[in-house]
Amino acid sequence: MKICFAASECVPFAKTGGLADVAGALPAVLKNLDHDVRVFLPLYDTIKAGDFDLTPVENLADIPVRLGDHDRAFSLWQGELPGTDTPVYFVDCPHYFHRGRIYTQDSDEDERFILFQNAILIALQHMRWSPDILHCNDWQTGLLPVFLKKTYRWDKLFAETASVLTIHNIGYQGRFSPAAIYKAGLDYQDYYPLGPFEFHGSFCFLKAGMCYADILTTVSETYAREIQTAEFGAGLDGVLRDRAGDLFGVLNGIDTNLWNPAKDTLIPFNYDSDDLSGKAENKKALLSACHLPAEKEAPVLGIIARLADQKGFDLLPPIIDELLQQDIRLVTLGSGDSGYEDMFRAMSARYPGKNFAYIGFNNELAHLITAGADMFLMPSRYEPCGLNQMYSLNYGTVPIVRHTGGLADTVIDYDTDPENGTGFSFHEYNPQALLDAVRRAMALYQHQDRWREVMLRGMHADFSWEKSARKYVSLYRRAKQLLLDRTD
Ligand code: ADP
Repeated sequence: MKICFAASECVPFAKTGGLADVAGALPAVLKNLDHDVRVFLPLYDTIKAGDFDLTPVENLADIPVRLGDHDRAFSLWQGELPGTDTPVYFVDCPHYFHRGRIYTQDSDEDERFILFQNAILIALQHMRWSPDILHCNDWQTGLLPVFLKKTYRWDKLFAETASVLTIHNIGYQGRFSPAAIYKAGLDYQDYYPLGPFEFHGSFCFLKAGMCYADILTTVSETYAREIQTAEFGAGLDGVLRDRAGDLFGVLNGIDTNLWNPAKDTLIPFNYDSDDLSGKAENKKALLSACHLPAEKEAPVLGIIARLADQKGFDLLPPIIDELLQQDIRLVTLGSGDSGYEDMFRAMSARYPGKNFAYIGFNNELAHLITAGADMFLMPSRYEPCGLNQMYSLNYGTVPIVRHTGGLADTVIDYDTDPENGTGFSFHEYNPQALLDAVRRAMALYQHQDRWREVMLRGMHADFSWEKSARKYVSLYRRAKQLLLDRTD
């Protein structure tokens, strides 16, 4: 199949969250399964052409695009996902993408991604490349299914192009003033209360995509069910219930080249399930890096996260005293909302020698915590998929998670299922439930033989992308069939 993969982020070029990890891994795995995949990404000024051997695409420079009252232009660059032969095309438009960061609060944020989406379809026209599937991701590419069915409907090149829209986090919706409809070259007649474009008085890119894409997916099966409820749907649950038959959950995989304790180049000691001695050495290295006393017996509980409401850290302050009264060390790596950053700074200042927080983004420390900690905490309020719990499982670092979204699909609670348990999970969103889960983990930690069994089960769990990529391929086939059935 010919697959056009459109995303606003892609590792290693541009990343703010999990979408970038998906865009940097899934297309290459699809390519290995013998599909013709091309990735499209904006050329932000933070991406240095020289670092990635990017070259301009011949005859695709200064291509005009009309955006409302403005004439803009873009050029196309090309490169590859590093270490693969998967082509990546970069939409170069300095006016919109030279802002020093990926997303902005600027008044033309809508235009930036309207241009990107138009540029993709125009580039495909110039290339005379007719994809079977246009795989869109989140609101930044949510208008593409609409463009296919409306603006570009005349073009036979796209007559057999089906669209798949993946929702990585329903909390980010791309809501703009209805004036954006004009900039997108769409028809105001389609903007009416409760219609596909309208959402609480705004023009919502994600909702539009959800109404027009042939197939919708999200990044875990539990999250696919959850977002059809008022509690998790962020206002879009009704739209999703209407499309329940076309909505599927596919768990993200992890990049086992980067996240594998046996060959991780960012940790001081490699190890595997046959020989865990390296893990103990990593624990020493972690404690030393965090200026914590080298006490082998006390378990280290790690946290690595974007510090946002979603991640559930408001559960910690009410129980931090009780938590740290136990013989445990807490190591946190995070950045994000300043309120949470201050909260973690204050908590670590109160418990020197037991609690260490690094506020900032630090990939190397993320690997060291994943390898060196004994337990890993993810108390998310909601979690579409989550990657860190999968990394932790494969590194023998036992996760303690809230039973929601992808966390529910990847971590088996030990106390519920001792034969198969890989971690600890709690259901109620309250501090006591979290504390209880940590206490259960601490109790098992005292029995090192059983603890080791739990570690090993996690290390043997298969989170490879190949499994998920095959699911996407079958959904691509389904999308294509739906499109052909509709056009018959
Ligand atoms: P989300 O996409 O909601 O942020 P995920 O668990 O899906 O959550 O992905 C988060 C990714 O970002 C992981 O690869 C994680 O290791 C990384 N990460 C998050 N915060 C930091 C940080 N402060 N320093 C280094 N890596 C981080």
